[in-house]
Order: sequence, then C-alpha cells, then structure tokens
Amino acid sequence: MISNLNKRIYYFTFFRKYLKERVFVVVLLNILVGMLDGLGLTMFLPLLYIAAGESFKGDADLAQINNWIEYFGIQLNLNTVLLLLVAFFSLKGVVYYFKGAYQVATQQYFIKTVRLASINSLNETKYEYFAGCDQGQIHNIITTEIERVAKACQSYFLAFQQLILVLVYVGFAFTLNWKFALMVCAGGLIVDFVYGKVYRKTKAISRQLTDGSGKFQGLIADYFSSYSYLRATGTAAKYRAKLDAQVTEIENKNKRIGTMSVFLSASREPMSIIVLSAVIAIQAFVLKEQLATVLVSLLFFYRALSCLMQYQTAWNSFLGVAGSLESTEQLINTLEANKQYTDGIRFSNLRHGLALENVSYSYGTQQVLRNISFTIDKYETVAIVGPSGSGKSTLISLITGLLTPADGRIMADAMDLKEWNLVTFQSRFGYITQNPVIFNDTIFNNVTLWAEANETNRSVFEKACKDAAIWDFVKDRKLQENEVLGAHGINLSGGQRQRIALARELFKSTDFLIMDEATSAMDSFTEKEIQQTIEKLKGTTTIIWIAHQLSTVKNADKIIYINNGSVAQIGSFEELCNENPEFKRMVDLQTIS
Ligand code: ADP
Ligand code: MG
Repeated sequence: MISNLNKRIYYFTFFRKYLKERVFVVVLLNILVGMLDGLGLTMFLPLLYIAAGESFKGDADLAQINNWIEYFGIQLNLNTVLLLLVAFFSLKGVVYYFKGAYQVATQQYFIKTVRLASINSLNETKYEYFAGCDQGQIHNIITTEIERVAKACQSYFLAFQQLILVLVYVGFAFTLNWKFALMVCAGGLIVDFVYGKVYRKTKAISRQLTDGSGKFQGLIADYFSSYSYLRATGTAAKYRAKLDAQVTEIENKNKRIGTMSVFLSASREPMSIIVLSAVIAIQAFVLKEQLATVLVSLLFFYRALSCLMQYQTAWNSFLGVAGSLESTEQLINTLEANKQYTDGIRFSNLRHGLALENVSYSYGTQQVLRNISFTIDKYETVAIVGPSGSGKSTLISLITGLLTPADGRIMADAMDLKEWNLVTFQSRFGYITQNPVIFNDTIFNNVTLWAEANETNRSVFEKACKDAAIWDFVKDRKLQENEVLGAHGINLSGGQRQRIALARELFKSTDFLIMDEATSAMDSFTEKEIQQTIEKLKGTTTIIWIAHQLSTVKNADKIIYINNGSVAQIGSFEELCNENPEFKRMVDLQTIS
C-alpha cells in the first residue's frame, strides 16, 4: 500500500514536472464538478419527501439541509427544489465543459512538451553516447512510446478525476449518513482487493511489451539497412524468422493485456449491483431505516462506487502504459546526463588553423589512434591517407568535435576545442562522407537544406550544382530541382549521391571542406571532374581530403600518412614516395591496377 502510494506520487511529480501549476487547476476544477454534482443530488432528498407527501421537518438529516438552505433565504418547496436542482446541474454542466476543455489542452501540452524535450536532448547529446547506444530503443521511445505516454496521460487524468469524485461523494455521504459512508468504504476495499491482483499483472506485462517493441524496432532498422543484401543472397527468410518470433511475442502480450481489460469492464456492472444489493439489504433488514434516505444514499453510493470502478479501469489502463512513462523519463535523463558541453566562445570563422597535439583515442578498450600530432593551416589542402581501418574517419570525427580525445588536445586558432562553442565550430564544416546523407525531399532542399527559394539562393544553388558536376543530372529530371529524391537516395547512383552532397557543401560557405573517401563511389571520369572542382577551391578554403586513390591527392600541400593508428610520415607526395617505401609500394600498386 505504501509503495503503491509512492508510485502514485512518483507519477504525479512526473506530470507536475512538465505541467507545473496546471496540475492543480485540473484538480480544483474536478473538485468543483464533484461539489456541484453532490449538491444537485442532495436536492433529490427533499424532492422525495415532497413526492411522498410527507413533511421533511421530522427527519434529522433533512432538517439540517433545510436549515442550510433557509440560511440563504430560500424556502424549501417543490418550486425552489426544482429550481435548485436545475441550477446545480446546469452549473455542473458548464464547469464540466470547461474542465474537459482545459484537460484536453493540458494533455496535448504535456505530450508536446515531452516530445520536444526528448528531441531536444537528443540534439544536444554527445555523439559518442549516441554512436554507442541502442538506437532502435531510442527510436522506439520517441515514436511509439511517446504515443503511449499520451495515452498514459489521458488515463491518469481520468483516474485522478474519478478518485476526486469518489472522495467528494464519500464526503457528502458522511455528512448525510455515516453508517452508509462506512459501507461505501467497505465495498470499495473489497473491490480494490479483487482488482488489485489484475493491475499488478498488467503492469508487469506492459513493461515486457515496451522491451519487446524496442527489440522489434531495432530488428526492423537492421532489416532495412541489410535489405538488399538479404534479398540478393536469398537469406531474407532467416531474418524473417527472427522478426516473426518477435511479432508473435508482442501479439501474445497485447492479447493478455486486452483480455484483462475486457474482464475488468465486463465485471464492473455485476460487481456494482452485488455490492449495491448488499447495502440495500443491510439498510432495510438490519438497520431498518426508512427507504427515502436509503434511496438518496444509494444515489451517492452508486455514483461513488461507479466512480471507483471507473477510477480502477482508468488506473489499470494507465498502468498498462505506465512503463512508457518510466522508459521515456529514463531516456530523457540519460540523454541529459550525456549532454554535450554547449557553453564556450562562439566560433565565427577560422583565422590561423588547427593543431592536433599528441591526440589518442579508443573505442572502449580498442585503441585506434596513438599520439597523433600535426597542423592544418588556413587554406591548406591536407590529405590523410592510410590503409582502411587505420583510423582516418575517427580522426575526422575528432577534428569536427564529434568525439573528444582520450589524451592530448585539439586546438583551433590556438584555443582548445573544449573552450569553443562546439555547435558554432561545427557549423564551419562541410563534410562529405563515404555514405552521404540524402533526405527524402527535393533536389533543391537536399542541396540548400531548406533554404528559401529566392533569386540569390537559386543562383548559388545553380553554381554549386555546376561545380559539383551534378547540374546536367538536375536539368535532365522531369521536375528539375523540384524532383524528390527517394529516402536515402535509393534511386541515385553512389556517384550521384556524392555529387549532391558535394553541391550541398559548396552551397554553404564554410571554412573546412572534408572529403572522407567522397569520390570512392564515382567512375574515374566523374572523379576526375570532381577533383578538378576541388582543385579550383584550393587556396580559398581549407580542405581535408581522405582518399583511397592516391593519385587524387597528388597535389595536396601536405600528405599525412597514417598507419595502424599512428602518423607514419608527413610530407609532400614526392617526399613520401622518396622516403617511405611502404607508401611508395602503395602508389606503385595503384598505378599498375
Ligand atoms: P578508416 O576510416 O581509416 O577506415 P576508421 O576510423 O573508420 O578507419 O576505423 C578505425 C578503427 O576503429 C577500425 O578498427 C574500426 O573497426 C574501429 N571503429 C570505427 N568506428 C567504431 C565505433 N563506432 N565503435 C567501435 N569501433 C569503431
Ligand atoms: Mg573511413
């Protein structure tokens, strides 16, 4: 019971955190509705006496109500009773409407706030955390789980509202007839006991369901990324078996939750009637009380009990989705804990250059970079070469501040990256990766990242496309720059994807252009074209070029040769050819092939 109360308080504080004083407004409005309803119902008592033609002066309870009403200068007769009845219930209707509208707005506000909070913290989280976490799980929480949080919010408020009504009715009941009130409590406790078992079970299954659908999302994400491989190799069926098992598990859990909730709603009415009949029997045969008071008492009793049942149904369906509240809060907390440092001096543009000083980095226990030191001057073209897996891409992630060095430091304009505001620093980078990002949007938006389609932007767009050797392709489209590229650029060739990405980087003005094997998917003719474009940029922007094909970086000002996570040598192409036999061997091999 105590831990139960703790849980209820925990959920309340969860909602309070996002809703602030709105929670109390909801509570107050609900109490008001209950009070008006209670007052209205109380008016049935004098009505019953008037209907039976009896004087109600003799009944102690009723005399009290009479005194109370006369206190306001109203004489109790059929007219005034009917008027009061209409007044109380009309007012209740009005307040009920405002309460409902306020509640809906509050719920929607809550969902919006939680959604934005999780997206926001995802935006600000350290890349290192994101790269290492279960992304399927995060994806699931932000899409499916938050939907369930919305449902949880709705049920929670419904349960809360019913609980308040129960308290108000019980309060009225106690003032009218305390014996009756005791019976309400007894009936309520019995019901609570019977239903308590079902709730606990639903809660446990709900938690498993959250885990299960997270797993399912992860599997689906994997399935999509490996789709063409699985289809091409005829291995899709094997993967399907895994998916099938997960889907069946989710089906079973949902079936169990559904069955329990059906049981609850089916048993609600019989339960009410059983308890009700028991109370009438006690009132009439044991206490031998008059039936008029019993009838109005019953009105309260029936209302209170049905509120209690509704409360329990709502609470049960809340518990069915409460697992989502916990996992969503956990996610937001974890993301917050892994927040990227966002203070620091704004980086407007590069003045002198970058310097890496004894930088080392490890993924877990695997050290991939050791004691890397070199400088990149402003407007220099630097090539980073080395065998695949030697740590080149990791080095780029360190330079862009996505990863932070385990040892050593990275300086931009003689100041540690830690002291610059990272987002402003990162906005100075153009970055083309091995797998460039293509959004499911028009060519224009893909290149300009949703810039306004005005005269200036269009001409910059055209120039960027021409420089990236993609203009002919754009002109050939039926809708030209308004043609939508499929998700992940599925209808583009690797070379086209990379040229779109290059156009995007050329569109914005940046200090750095990073090409991480950006031309690796192009045919040698296109590669040559892009190479010429980049050559033209030489001396006007700082270029960091990672290329597998060593001939593409022949003209770089400086080549940094990385082998096995360390700098093997730094120098010009000629210097490296002359002084490093390993490098020379790589060049020779590529010239032959
Ligand atoms: P390159 O770009 O030179 O091919 P990478 O920097 O991509 O090399 O990778 C260097 C090493 O780090 C490889 O052994 C790779 O397996 C490992 N690695 C890369 N990314 C991760 C990651 N997110 N988690 C763990 N290991 C990684
Ligand atoms: Mg790489």
